[in-house]
Amino acid sequence: MTGLLADILKLGQMVNEDAELKKLVHFEVLREISYKNEVFPIYSFTIGSSDPEHPTLFMTGGVHGLERVGAQLAWSLLKTTIDRLVWDKSLQELFTNVKLVVIPLVNPVGYYKFKRCNGNDVDLMRNSPVVSNEKIPFLLGGQRYSRKLAWYQGDPGVLEEENAVLCEKFFQSCSQSKCIVSIDFHSGFGMKDRIWFPFSYTRVPFDNVAEVDAFATLFEETHPYHIYKIEPQSKGYLLNGDIWDHLFLELKKINPHTVYIPLTLEMGSWTWVRKNPLQIFSKQGIFNPMKVHRLKRTYRRHYLLYDFMLKALRSHPVWSELDSTVKLKHLNSGMTRWYE
Ligand SMILES: [Zn+2]
Repeated sequence: MTGLLADILKLGQMVNEDAELKKLVHFEVLREISYKNEVFPIYSFTIGSSDPEHPTLFMTGGVHGLERVGAQLAWSLLKTTIDRLVWDKSLQELFTNVKLVVIPLVNPVGYYKFKRCNGNDVDLMRNSPVVSNEKIPFLLGGQRYSRKLAWYQGDPGVLEEENAVLCEKFFQSCSQSKCIVSIDFHSGFGMKDRIWFPFSYTRVPFDNVAEVDAFATLFEETHPYHIYKIEPQSKGYLLNGDIWDHLFLELKKINPHTVYIPLTLEMGSWTWVRKNPLQIFSKQGIFNPMKVHRLKRTYRRHYLLYDFMLKALRSHPVWSELDSTVKLKHLNSGMTRWYE
């Protein structure tokens, strides 16, 4: 195997060969996906606290294989973190109280075969059992007419292997955490980098809207010049089978008092295309920066958000354990900015 999977494996081997790092980082092969006589592993890294109640950041990339920059970004943030863990005492201290789980490449078949879907032509972001009762856009919101068309949901009641692995790892690492943020890296059309939170299946406001507002406000106050547009996914369009809606709803059944914010970062690709128009003729060029310097800039661009999320989890009571007056204030503020 060459490319990203080889880089991920190399990082895992580096961890396993270093006695000090091995105490802090756990590298695993979660599953090997078979596709036409080839085998594609799904790797994960778990860093930091083993206390099941400690707050957790759950980070994923490459759910849509073609949006390769997402997987590369997850890998780059992971690599920086592991390199810093060797010498950075403040980061080591942070990880005595916080857990980080990274699955840098959830859909390796899609990534290597330049497909949005997995090897069975299923769109992993339309495949969960969550069904919308509201009007969803034709095809785009998920469809079961044909696996030859985009946004195919897969067979009813069947969770694709990649999603099953993702859910298993999520519940194993997060089911008892007091506070969880997940971030899933994607790229798509648009000029802006967007951060979406649930729901995707309904326009009903998200249960943790007060906490999202407190979290977002803290981010905006700390980094007033940040680049993101933060909004519920339902502001764009509704869809069936979002895996993060599913994880949120299932986690609530097991651990109703936990605060969980699932985030999706949708990196706008129009700026890359605009600066290098020829890349529109390449299948991956529509979704990814093609020039190395632009890829590097993308890594740097999102480090601030990543660093903020880790530190906000370390100090999570500030935004996740609000007293009733403050909570009401954030509820009103969140409802006004996102749902009116
Ligand atoms: Zn995507």
